[in-house]
Amino acid sequence: MTTNSPKSIIVIFGATGDLANRKLYPSIYRLYRNGKLSENFAVVGVARRPLTNEDFRNNVKKSISHFEDKSIDPDAFASHFHYHPFDVQDLSYYQSLNKLLNTLDEKHETEGNRIFYLAMAPNFFGTLATNLKSEGLTSTNGWTRLVIEKPFGHNFKSAKELNDQIREAFTEDQIYRIDHYLGKEMVQNIEVIRFANAMFEPLWNNQHISNIQITSSEVLGVEDRGRYYESSGALRDMVQNHMLQMMALLAMEPPIKLTPEEIRSEKVKVLRALKPITEEDVEKYFVRGQYDRGILNGEEINGYREGNSVDPESNTETFVSGKLLIENFRWAGVPFYIRTGKRMKKKSTEIVIQFKDLPMNLYYDKEENIHPNLLVIHIQPYEGITLHLNAKKGEYGSTSTPITLNYNNNGSNDKMNTPEAYEVLLNDCMRGDSTNFTHWDEVALSWKFVDIISNAWENTKAEQFPNYESGSNGPKESEALLENDGFNWWSVTPEEE
Ligand code: NAP
Repeated sequence: MTTNSPKSIIVIFGATGDLANRKLYPSIYRLYRNGKLSENFAVVGVARRPLTNEDFRNNVKKSISHFEDKSIDPDAFASHFHYHPFDVQDLSYYQSLNKLLNTLDEKHETEGNRIFYLAMAPNFFGTLATNLKSEGLTSTNGWTRLVIEKPFGHNFKSAKELNDQIREAFTEDQIYRIDHYLGKEMVQNIEVIRFANAMFEPLWNNQHISNIQITSSEVLGVEDRGRYYESSGALRDMVQNHMLQMMALLAMEPPIKLTPEEIRSEKVKVLRALKPITEEDVEKYFVRGQYDRGILNGEEINGYREGNSVDPESNTETFVSGKLLIENFRWAGVPFYIRTGKRMKKKSTEIVIQFKDLPMNLYYDKEENIHPNLLVIHIQPYEGITLHLNAKKGEYGSTSTPITLNYNNNGSNDKMNTPEAYEVLLNDCMRGDSTNFTHWDEVALSWKFVDIISNAWENTKAEQFPNYESGSNGPKESEALLENDGFNWWSVTPEEE
């Protein structure tokens, strides 16, 4: 059931944490400012430290202080926020939280609708879900939904255990597993570009596309998240969720309707069609890397192994590239290359669709090699679409030269009004639209695929680590992965004006 002005209480577990302050409060503020929240809403912040309502509201106001809207009174906004000290393990806190929620429900007329947003360390997710049910917080006259942050498990086994535990308390359609990439404007644009343009969909197959490349590179290193990263690595942190989700959106069949069930079912079919690899084959299809020292923006940078809480002999990958094959009629024979890493040359998430060369090019110019047609979807920080074509060179004769058509999403929209990922996802959750959240079937299939690679990597020490310089494009084996197939990585972000 979706409504446009949802009434509800949002309970944020981990209300004093980084995610809540940096992303959730500013997103709730933007929804409020954009008229997407009715006046009937309340936010209850929950964490261990003993704050008063006033302390909490001051923190919330600090997190939105960069917005300069004269029309919104920060105190009026903050008055919807309440704080409840809490410990996950202690049942008495759940009972007192329930009392507070019942009182606020009456005061704000939220009709028993509750969102439980788990912005806490993942080891608490299962216990929280169990206790929310056992202490009666999920028994209301309205709807209750559970929002879960990543990571959802560490491998298939732990993800299934977590899922089984959560499913004791919530049904699948009450569970909203966040993959914040799915809230990004240009990721949501993948479907629109594909299914709303007569010129792309007929070409979207192995007859016309030679390969697809998905890159998500960061300039930042692991910073102070060494402890978390040591047990995660780029494969679990980025590939299992964001990279495979983007691949599924690019490869899925057109859904018969834009409902969560239809879209997710098409994505699941793609994940089911992924060519399974064996541990012995991992080296053929995947490259792992770890950053060494290097120079970035003129500054000397330490290697990964020199970071805080990182093993000086660490086997953890900070870079992954890989070749995925989808075994179905549409995609047989078309490689999907993925690449993600930290401490790379530039921060960029982009998707390149490379079309096949024409059988013969009449306009070949020796000095100006023929360029394949590329459709590039720029996800972040540059947001837009570029289409790379060949056109007549402006001179006598008839040779061609590459040209680029550019649509800049940062420039064409009022940036203030382009919704942020968390804002979109919170709004979707309040409206009961789970399209942009991951279904358990997607999580399960992606873990099963990724587990084979992580098992292979955990069982063999990467003798060559560290194997790429900070500020580079990753290890040279990643270039070779494409060169062996006759391709190369494209990097084509236009300069922002
Ligand atoms: P964080 O800054 O470490 O915050 C953790 C929160 O949990 C704090 O509010 C802490 O408050 C509370 N907490 C810890 N132990 C508790 C307990 N026993 N009972 C009650 N509250 C407790 O973590 P975060 O970076 O916000 O991340 C939260 C979740 O989001 C994690 O699952 C993370 O993987 C995920 N995530 C975060 C980001 C991000 O940008 N930060 C991005 C994607 C996903 P007290 O110390 O006051 O108790």
